Amino acid sequence: MQPQGKAIRSFSRIINLLRDLSSTDKLDVIPSKYPSFPTFASHIAKLFSDDRLFDIIPRLEIELGIIAKHNPPVRPAMDPYVSTQIGIFSKNYSDWEIGGFLGYPDCCMRPFADEARYGIDERHAAELKKVKGRIFVATAGFIPHSIFCSASQAGGLIAFVTKEELESIRQVERELTAALPHFHSEYQGQYYEVRVS
Ligand SMILES: [Zn+2]
Repeated sequence: MQPQGKAIRSFSRIINLLRDLSSTDKLDVIPSKYPSFPTFASHIAKLFSDDRLFDIIPRLEIELGIIAKHNPPVRPAMDPYVSTQIGIFSKNYSDWEIGGFLGYPDCCMRPFADEARYGIDERHAAELKKVKGRIFVATAGFIPHSIFCSASQAGGLIAFVTKEELESIRQVERELTAALPHFHSEYQGQYYEVRVS
């Protein structure tokens, strides 16, 4: 048995949050309980109380089962069907709230929210030049402030991986595609990968 890895912990945190939001009967305490994403948490709890999210936790449990089986160093993106159902792509919530919900570190949220640093850019490219021969992987949709960000590494959001770890990541991706089909063509990839040669 491999020890429980960062990707498993990071993904379990999201499921536990959603389970908690699904079972609350006091919507007015949500903002103080989730100070880093009060509006978004209230929105999710309301959707649960209206029985509009009945199918999301079973899907995330399937995703967690696949992650736990392969124990990759980086967690995949959350099932895009679930992200859509809870409103992550809706732009109704601040980047800070969405980042807080997804467990993105503040050091990485700042350039994303304040400078609209939405992709791998020339600053990342300059850093990547220093790591020749390595493979960098990030959770799809997450942009680290630096490819060396220690908070993101600790959170299972980025890593430099070995060939074997890359194979476990590809296997997670294949199994997720087969087990959890969805209709968001722009969100098919669960990971972002850069091979530095
Ligand atoms: Zn960071």
